[in-house]
Amino acid sequence: MVRYHIVTLGCAKNVADSERIGRVLGAGAHHEVAAPDAADVIIVNTCGFIDAAKEESVDTIVELAAGKRAGQRLVVAGCLTALHGAELRADVPEIDAVFGAEDWAGIGAWAQTIEPLRLDAQRYDVPETSAAARPSAYLKISDGCNAPCTFCIIPKMKGRLHSAPAGDIIAEARRLAAAGVREIVLVAQDSTDYGRDLGQIDGLPALLEQLSAAVPGVPWLRVMYAYPGHVTPRLAETMARLPNVVPYIDVPLQHAAESVLRRMKRPANTRMVREMIDTLRAAMPGIAVRTTFIVGYPGETEDEFRELLAFVREMAFDRVGCFTFSPQSESPAAHAPDQVAERVKRRRQRRLMEVAQQVSTIRNRALLGREIDVLVESAGPERTGGAEISIGRSYRDAPEVDGLVLLRGAFPPGAFVRARVTETLAYDVVAEPVDVEAAVSRRG
Ligand code: SF4
Repeated sequence: MVRYHIVTLGCAKNVADSERIGRVLGAGAHHEVAAPDAADVIIVNTCGFIDAAKEESVDTIVELAAGKRAGQRLVVAGCLTALHGAELRADVPEIDAVFGAEDWAGIGAWAQTIEPLRLDAQRYDVPETSAAARPSAYLKISDGCNAPCTFCIIPKMKGRLHSAPAGDIIAEARRLAAAGVREIVLVAQDSTDYGRDLGQIDGLPALLEQLSAAVPGVPWLRVMYAYPGHVTPRLAETMARLPNVVPYIDVPLQHAAESVLRRMKRPANTRMVREMIDTLRAAMPGIAVRTTFIVGYPGETEDEFRELLAFVREMAFDRVGCFTFSPQSESPAAHAPDQVAERVKRRRQRRLMEVAQQVSTIRNRALLGREIDVLVESAGPERTGGAEISIGRSYRDAPEVDGLVLLRGAFPPGAFVRARVTETLAYDVVAEPVDVEAAVSRRG
């Protein structure tokens, strides 16, 4: 039995991968500890999505390598290893093993060969709360991607789409439900392409139907990372019909000017995007639509950027994220002509987020006086002006990326509280409890 500690970098998909590594190690009777210092094995689950993320992963590895104790093992796993595993091993000799993305079994088998360190009693650490004990959990349904976006190296790192069999996903959802999880967030590089490699058409709606029936006690199932061309009327109709699929979708659009989308090798059809959003809003009138954009893509002109701004205003997205284009050396876009100056990118990012914030403020204001269901994530008391506040989310907020509900009173994590919105901010809202654990209405 070895004590392991996992450092997770990157996005929600990596969080899901780390949980998977934890389960494989747990099945081998290994035991998670909260601090690297107390671990026999430190695992860094890296991210390689953009150069800044790669840098953060490398810095973390180097820092942990420098603090490594005699006999301790340092393992590197995840996205970065696909393209840079050998390089990392050569540059950081303290690394004991490198495992490619998704090589859970390899890590598990390797861990069985490790002799635990002899630690004195004071250094022994308490196990971390199981990931599944949190109210919300990520469930990765597929990995890899078939799209050719010029700024992205995911297909190079993770390969083409490969979907998990529905039976495995359902077993995992049942395990999470049994552990008390109240929200399951489905993640993938492109969740809406689920099942295509298994010969399915509209695989995601079919999977949602099975999941909804398999875990009726999980009030919220949420879909992240949809791809514009893959959101079908059947998906909208299925989401609207299933009682525990929240009316929320995250569709990264990346840009709105068709000329930029063409250069990005993304679907360059804003009419189709408008129709898709209309279909979703018609099927689920309260749906919260989240999207993300990239500004400062090579060659982006002021006119193209203005087109994007106008689109953000017109579409009134509930949630918007905006990144500046970050060239990844292995991607075609990094070598495209007319790279945009950093200060221009940052200025455009600021301008876009100002518009997004105005829209979000208006949409939030419409909630004033309305009742919503709040999933409590952290219990009070957090004293704000003497009042106890619990932090939670409504169906409109995905974990980690969207707004929060500041709920008056102290409630335990995992509780659903029916609450009335009494104040609205740009992204967050303040709410007063009306009823605890009332029948959860996903319409909020
Ligand atoms: S759809 Fe997403 S993951 Fe796939 S290539 Fe494009 S940006 Fe990368």
